[in-house]
Amino acid sequence: GRRRPAPKLVSALTFGHDRPVPIANGGAHYDYLVVGAGFAGSVLAERLASELDKKVLVIDRRPHIAGNAYDYYDAAGILVHKYGPHIFHTNSQKVVDYLSRFTAWRPYEHRVLAQVDGKLVPMPINLTTLAKLYGRAFTSEQASEFLAARAEPVNPVRTSEDVVVSKVGRELYEKFFRGYTRKQWGLDPSELDKAVAARIPVRTSTDDRYFTDTFQCMPLHGYTRMFEKMLDHPNITVKTGTSYDDVRDAIHYDHLIYCGPIDEFFDHRYGRLPYRSLQFRQATLDQTTFQPAAVVNYPAEDIPYTRITEYKYLTGQEHEKTSITYEIPSAVGEPYYPVPRPENDRLFRKYQDLADRTPGVTFVGRLATYRYYNMDQVIAQALSVFERLAEPEPTQQG
Ligand code: FAD
Ligand code: UDP
Repeated sequence: GRRRPAPKLVSALTFGHDRPVPIANGGAHYDYLVVGAGFAGSVLAERLASELDKKVLVIDRRPHIAGNAYDYYDAAGILVHKYGPHIFHTNSQKVVDYLSRFTAWRPYEHRVLAQVDGKLVPMPINLTTLAKLYGRAFTSEQASEFLAARAEPVNPVRTSEDVVVSKVGRELYEKFFRGYTRKQWGLDPSELDKAVAARIPVRTSTDDRYFTDTFQCMPLHGYTRMFEKMLDHPNITVKTGTSYDDVRDAIHYDHLIYCGPIDEFFDHRYGRLPYRSLQFRQATLDQTTFQPAAVVNYPAEDIPYTRITEYKYLTGQEHEKTSITYEIPSAVGEPYYPVPRPENDRLFRKYQDLADRTPGVTFVGRLATYRYYNMDQVIAQALSVFERLAEPEPTQQG
């Protein structure tokens, strides 16, 4: 088919750690073509280049590296994230050790407020949230009883509605989850897998952190700087503003690592996999702070955005102005989120079967494996894919 990688050419001439020498037809030869310069593609490029001495070409159709983790200094000189707030958190020491080769860290624990009933209250729901909403103090026991009295048993728990209603009941579900989820996904929580809302815990403690992972830090000089260090290797060539379609017939390579949407790779042969998009509205304000937390969530359905991020909290940067981002969910635009629900999983599995029958191509990352993965999960996935690629080919028997 049209999407098969170019045949292996034996004319690759490389000298030591030089860039591959262009061959007669104007193309060049690489051991690996990596499509996508986000975490999935960049981790693999780095591993293949530095551990296996492979020559790697990394392309990305966007005009920058770092995928959705891309950050940059805006016109006011404030470090902002182009694609919404990226907070690094993980329980994997392996992932921390790996990234620590390319960055130092700034300890940062993320805290989020939600605007509910005209008040700003901590999210995830915890003792302070209940106290602020109901105007009285709660002990841990009182909160457990309060929630248990409202929780509606659901069996089995399948959807994002089930998972919340069975823990906190309908009132808190409607205040904190229903509107936010309907906006974010364009679906009712009853139409989404339980795993989506289950990302957000409910606590009968005063712990108001968004994450409880053992490691919670931001890359000291930002994500883009960390990616620059990862990709800075004599075996790696990076071309941004370049799509797979631009180079597939011009470049010769042995193996393809594909980190884009899997349905697009196969020309949507079985139909489109839904990916949810967002519009990001950036603003710089002539004031030192805008809101009392890094992120404020707006679950009300009549407000078009889901949350506002103020970056100085994430980065610790001091500046007389402040930059913020509104996230407005959208059905059209760049694919950001796979949409976890059974019919989408079924469609994905058809593409995955096709992928398994496509030699010479490895699918990695959030878009290509259609998983609602955090950054650390994508890095862990890429590291294990690398370990598989590094294994010697099994020898043919008989
Ligand atoms: P991506 O970063 O999407 O990279 C894939 C790249 O492939 C893209 O740059 C794309 O342009 C390129 N590409 C696709 N198709 C082609 C093609 N045909 N040709 C050339 N290039 C192509 N994770 C966390 O851990 N913490 C957070 O706080 C967090 N916040 C998030 C907030 C938002 C709004 C979003 C959308 C995601 C967030 N994530 C967060 C998740 C995180 O962004 C992902 O886990 C991670 O970026 C996935 O890396 P990836 O390499 O799989 O995909
Ligand atoms: N969610 C919600 N209300 C909130 C925060 C989250 O209903 O105040 C639900 C919503 O469905 C959201 C999901 O929980 O998409 C996961 O939230 P998270 O903050 O992890 O989303 P992400 O940062 O990945 O966009």
